[in-house]
Amino acid sequence: MPSKHVVVIGSGFAGLSAATHLADRGTCAVTLLEKNDSPGGRARAFGAQGFTFDMGPSWYWMPDVFDRYFAHFGKKTTDYYELLRLDPSYSVVFGENDVLDIPAELAQYKEMLETLQPGAAKQLDRFLSQARYKYQVGIHDLVHRPCRSVLEFASPSLLVDVLQMDIFQSMAKHVRKFFTHDKIIRLLEFPVLFLGETAENIPALYSLMNYADIILGTWYPKKGMHEIIRGMVSLAEEKKVAIRYSAEVEEIEVTAGEAKHIRLKSGERIQADVVIAGADYHHVDKYLLNPAYSNYSDDYWDKRVLAPSSLLFYLGVNKKLKNLRHHNLFFDEPLGPHADAIYKNPRWPEKPLFYTCVPSVTDSTVAPEGMENLFLLIPLAPDLEDSEPMREKYYDLIMERLERLTGQEIRSHVVFKRSYAHSDFQADYHAFKGNAYGLANTLSQTALLKPSLKNKKVRNLYYTGQLTVPGPGVPPSLISGEVVAREVMKEHNL
Ligand SMILES: Cc1cc2nc3c(=O)[nH]c(=O)nc-3n(C[C@H](O)[C@H](O)[C@H](O)COP(=O)(O)OP(=O)(O)OC[C@H]3O[C@@H](n4cnc5c(N)ncnc54)[C@H](O)[C@@H]3O)c2cc1C
Repeated sequence: MPSKHVVVIGSGFAGLSAATHLADRGTCAVTLLEKNDSPGGRARAFGAQGFTFDMGPSWYWMPDVFDRYFAHFGKKTTDYYELLRLDPSYSVVFGENDVLDIPAELAQYKEMLETLQPGAAKQLDRFLSQARYKYQVGIHDLVHRPCRSVLEFASPSLLVDVLQMDIFQSMAKHVRKFFTHDKIIRLLEFPVLFLGETAENIPALYSLMNYADIILGTWYPKKGMHEIIRGMVSLAEEKKVAIRYSAEVEEIEVTAGEAKHIRLKSGERIQADVVIAGADYHHVDKYLLNPAYSNYSDDYWDKRVLAPSSLLFYLGVNKKLKNLRHHNLFFDEPLGPHADAIYKNPRWPEKPLFYTCVPSVTDSTVAPEGMENLFLLIPLAPDLEDSEPMREKYYDLIMERLERLTGQEIRSHVVFKRSYAHSDFQADYHAFKGNAYGLANTLSQTALLKPSLKNKKVRNLYYTGQLTVPGPGVPPSLISGEVVAREVMKEHNL
């Protein structure tokens, strides 16, 4: 029996990844504690009336990151789920009868750009060759660094790499150097919205996301995104991780600068030699630790730029819908005022952009026959007052637009409806200010400037997940778990 016991808090992508990497060594026993009664954190799923709804992520980007994860354990993604590449990758609705279907094939993608801006295909080649380089250095190297010291970056060749990666230029400026057509600009700026800020405030390093979008493609795991979690849980169990659900942690007990026990809400105390917290960083730092051991102050957290929260609707519709693809971005209103309502003057937006996912377009298993599974997402500022009347107001506002723009009645065919917003993110995940996606990847919140993955005062306490390195999103969270596991193995001789 291994003599050391590592306790991981939270069964999101990051916690599952950290626990499995550690257990794989066979040099420690690993227990994973999850407050909810099912795994996956923000990527949970639920079933109702024959529909299966993914609760959070719906875009499967960067397939190489998932392949690499399973390959590390001698497995293949296909051992756990079947992947389909979507074509069109997604559609963008700019207005009534003004829709772009984004082709998966590069040649067709270029043709589409060429019709909008003559010469754009050649410009795309130049744009993508830089994006490819950034992807290679960024995803295959930089994101795997724990970012605990500048010395990690003190190699001349890496310095050259970093300088070539447009860290100090905004994504908005970068895109405009290549393209002038408004639709192309909106198309190429859209992926950085995943990073929790607008293109004006995201470094051009992240054009690597365009490489992921255009070259690596948009994929879908059959039966839904939660299949990834199912696969990860099955792998973790194979590696003998003891996963306990409905096991909410109430305190990390520290004695003489070491986390010695975890106290659950039930009162049970669990001995620990190392603790990795994959729950929201702010919750762990502020509520699970004696304040003397917190890494950061309230003031620090209040100054962070959080990625948005969201208002979500999970809808079951009792007919097949037309004019909708698997992923649909509704950009029929300008982004400026909506971004202002998220970042500058937090408020409920007047005319929000929104996103609709209809996985039943691709996958007949997620809705009863002849029906449609509809997921609506409106990005919102964190910390807004979230009330039932407000949710209903936005439901009507969005559904009216959805019906008008796709030319069909939907509301009268809704047979299942559930909404989800700030107060749910707080209740379910202890999310700081009800955030959905953690911290934004602005320049001042990148790499060394992110909340550290190690506690400065507690020798054996580490953090993982979307609020620490490398950042928000499923692939970064998977990587975050691996990075922290490596640090723990190194520092605790595992
Ligand atoms: C609506 C939505 C859409 C998204 N869309 C995409 C997308 O399309 N593509 C993409 O790549 N990313 C997407 N993301 C982001 C992605 O889902 C997250 O970045 C990722 O899932 C975060 O994983 P995590 O492990 O860091 O955190 P979480 O998934 O939040 O896991 C943390 C876990 O800790 C548990 N926990 C909290 N407190 C305690 C406690 N005291 N005791 C025990 N357990 C506790 C929580 O219950 C949770 O299970 C989306 C997120 C949301 C919310």
